Amino acid sequence: MPDLRELYQEMIVDHGRHPRNFGPLPEANRHAEGFNPLCGDQLALHLKLRDDGLIEDARFEGSGCAISTASASLMTEALKGRSREEAEALFAAFHALVTGESVGPGSAVPLGKLAVLGGVTQFPTRVKCATLAWHTLQAALHGETRPVSTED
Ligand code: ZN
Repeated sequence: MPDLRELYQEMIVDHGRHPRNFGPLPEANRHAEGFNPLCGDQLALHLKLRDDGLIEDARFEGSGCAISTASASLMTEALKGRSREEAEALFAAFHALVTGESVGPGSAVPLGKLAVLGGVTQFPTRVKCATLAWHTLQAALHGETRPVSTED
């Protein structure tokens, strides 16, 4: 039986090779771009955000390493049908997971499949690959037009 780490590894490889929600989203009303110059990852995130703050759809384009692509793929899957507040809470929980920091009390959100990326804590240079999509999400939600860089 494969151990959990192998299973997680397989899921990252799968999402890295066959990203979900990859492509343009013509009906999107929020966009943001993100770059990770250290690794060469770049992505454009498209969101369809309803007036009441619900994320109806999320897709992304771009190119990057397996970790950044898998992270964007898993993130867009996790975002659909979430409110803005839930998305922010997920970001906080995910960020805490990959940086190895603790989440504040009361803000622990079940990460579901996103937990597969927890292994990057052991590889500090890959943490930015994993968080790139999430920083780009923040920019999209806050309506920032300047591209996000992990090195700012
Ligand atoms: Zn990368």
